[in-house]
Amino acid sequence: MNNVYAEVITIGDEILYGQTLDTNTHWMGQKLNELGIKIIRKVSIGDDKEEIVSALDEASRRADIILMTGGLGPTKDDITKFTLAAYFGMPLRRNEEALAHITELFASRGRTITPTNEKQADLPLGCTIITNRMGTAPAMWFEREGKVFVSMPGVPYEMKTIMEEEVLPRLKENFSLPVIYHQMIQTVGIGESWLSDKIEAWETSLPSHIRLAYLPSFGNVKLRLTALGDDLELLKAQVMEEVDKVMPLIEEYVFALGDISLEETIGNMLMEKGKTIALAESCSGGYVAHSLTSTAGSSAYFQGALVPYHNKLKEEVLDVKKETLINNGAVSEATVTEMAQNIRKLLQADFGLASSGIAGPGGGTLEKPVGTIWIAVADAHETITQKLTLSKDRMLNIKLTKVALLNLLRKRLKQLA
Ligand code: ATP
Repeated sequence: MNNVYAEVITIGDEILYGQTLDTNTHWMGQKLNELGIKIIRKVSIGDDKEEIVSALDEASRRADIILMTGGLGPTKDDITKFTLAAYFGMPLRRNEEALAHITELFASRGRTITPTNEKQADLPLGCTIITNRMGTAPAMWFEREGKVFVSMPGVPYEMKTIMEEEVLPRLKENFSLPVIYHQMIQTVGIGESWLSDKIEAWETSLPSHIRLAYLPSFGNVKLRLTALGDDLELLKAQVMEEVDKVMPLIEEYVFALGDISLEETIGNMLMEKGKTIALAESCSGGYVAHSLTSTAGSSAYFQGALVPYHNKLKEEVLDVKKETLINNGAVSEATVTEMAQNIRKLLQADFGLASSGIAGPGGGTLEKPVGTIWIAVADAHETITQKLTLSKDRMLNIKLTKVALLNLLRKRLKQLA
């Protein structure tokens, strides 16, 4: 199996100055990785001839494929095309096909072409021109000493169309690429370092063609296994063998295999059991409801939600006892228990979920500092609660509360299986 290496060069002063966020390399990285092409470096440079030349020289020493975006516009600061023509020793010539495309594009927008726009059809003689269906600047494909250099426009939707329709298929044809297989193991309720301690011995024993990546985000750590080889079925079998080995070590934290969210997993579990849920969200302010209802088909199990932020609402609408609030406070196990039980009854659901806490950054006390949050899940048989001790960051606390609450429900649903 031969490794094929790629380097991505983004060109444009606006990226260096922070005016444009470089989303192109992010997207390209994913697409190249899916094809089994190894990205070894991403470089951002300004609209500067010397910088472009030196980036090309360096990249061609390391990579087989050099992909560039940006600097192809008709304005004076866009110099990529001129630099490439000089670099590859190709004079610029008017390309009639490209000119026809630009003229047509302008006509379809009810505009007449200007001499500046016409110049976009002056292209290096000898490279392969790839029409830009979505815009005026065509992409250019150069080959030198077995290496491929592709220059594409910087506008993300133009670059994506060119990549999907032209560049990726051509790369597949030009290079003998390895077969790649990914398998995701989704975990929740355990931090990255604890997880890595638990699976250290297994990780060390992984065969060299199977790699493990930790992808953490807000209470959810994805473990991604990537296998490279020649035979897809064999790779799948080898990866699944590794999944079977690691599962007993982390089973209680794994909510899914594959690229599926915690919300979707909860939805599927509820649908399988024919159960419904209702929410009373104080500190999470409806975020859990929003996340659940962002999943298609959630009407099958999502009854509704209340955001009883003010204690008056907790009492009057949700029927939380006055004494409970006075004796324990709104952020307490007793209050969140009543909230979960009462919302379940009020909205006639099988499960009631509730949150109440101090999201921050202000409002904490010595006894209940910022980040103190109580959550509860109630059903017809019992109510389970959990105290969370989170951070001082409000949005982070809200997001982590959602994950913890959904995880509490997941665990309860598993118990009831
Ligand atoms: P055009 O012919 O449309 O001018 P171009 O190749 O000249 O395309 P640039 O002028 O470099 O591209 O950039 C056009 C726009 O595309 C920028 O204003 C920016 O919004 C976006 N863009 C450029 N590079 C990137 C990038 N790496 N990631 C995300 N957006 C980008």
